Amino acid sequence: MIVAMQEVATEEQIQKVIERLVHLGFEVHRSTGARQTVLGAVGARNEFDIRDIEVLEGVSEAHRVSSPYKLVARSFRPEGTVVKFSNGVSIGGQEVVIMAGPCSVESHEQIFEVAEMVSKAGARFLRGGAFKPRSSPYSFQGMGEEALKLMRDAADKFKLLVISEVMEISQIPLMIPYVDVLQVGARNMQNFNLLRELGKVRKPVLLKRGIAATIEELLLSAEYLMAGGNYEVMLCERGIRTFETYTRNTMDISAIPIVKKLSHLPMVADPSHGTGRRDKVPPMGRAAIAAGADALLVEVHNCPDKALSDGAQSLYPEQFTKLMAELRIIAPAVGRTLA
Ligand code: PEP
Ligand code: MN
Repeated sequence: MIVAMQEVATEEQIQKVIERLVHLGFEVHRSTGARQTVLGAVGARNEFDIRDIEVLEGVSEAHRVSSPYKLVARSFRPEGTVVKFSNGVSIGGQEVVIMAGPCSVESHEQIFEVAEMVSKAGARFLRGGAFKPRSSPYSFQGMGEEALKLMRDAADKFKLLVISEVMEISQIPLMIPYVDVLQVGARNMQNFNLLRELGKVRKPVLLKRGIAATIEELLLSAEYLMAGGNYEVMLCERGIRTFETYTRNTMDISAIPIVKKLSHLPMVADPSHGTGRRDKVPPMGRAAIAAGADALLVEVHNCPDKALSDGAQSLYPEQFTKLMAELRIIAPAVGRTLA
């Protein structure tokens, strides 16, 4: 941590700050210039609240230099994490992976039609919700285990992997036999009990950014998973709540290169929830790949106008096929290929 004292800070105030830092376990390096004193504090083992320092008399500003997360930090694995799957697909390497499918699994016919279509277009994962976190308790809540069975069968038939959202601890053992990736939704990003349990499983987890979460909070939530022993973690930008109302959320494309720099974990982008409107999904999907995303999570429906959830942001099959063709051009321009 670096603590810059105010120009008018007295020697007594400086000493009090030094005492406090030493009490917290820091070794303090003092640099006194012609006008200002700056304290470099290193080596504290215990967690602390930076505001405790900021509010001390005479302090101008205090900044953390080392990150509050350790295992997710890029320095833990400078070469980057690559999550590998049984069929040879991997996320976080040179290849860009596309995950596509409906918001919710609705029927046998729907999921098989969508699986066939996205597989032909080049997707590697079938997405689809079995347990849905809906804003209203009266909205469709998902088909549960039946949806998982259907998704697994459809995915196997069309050589796809399966990603689906886990909403609570009790669903983990039920889902493990059916899915290849457990998705933690935006609303559960800070469900620390769920994260702790997912830290114990040996199945990749995709952790979505919370609706009002900072990038640091996203990384700290991922730290829960890794601290529990699950190192197969992927992060996902899916749009955040801002004052803009034209789109459902504001797709924070800048989070992609920021996370890629701060962390070794693969970064996925979800332009569907990020924008909430199907006409905005392809441009944001293209932008995400150009910005360095390792994978895209896209909602596609065989008949979006009849979808039981998120129809307005679900691509028509032909829109998805066109997006895939565009991504095949964009990926090589940024040194990647489409898986
Ligand atoms: C989803 O992917 O279906 C979903 C509910 O996403 P989010 O958690 O980002 O809202
Ligand atoms: Mn959805």
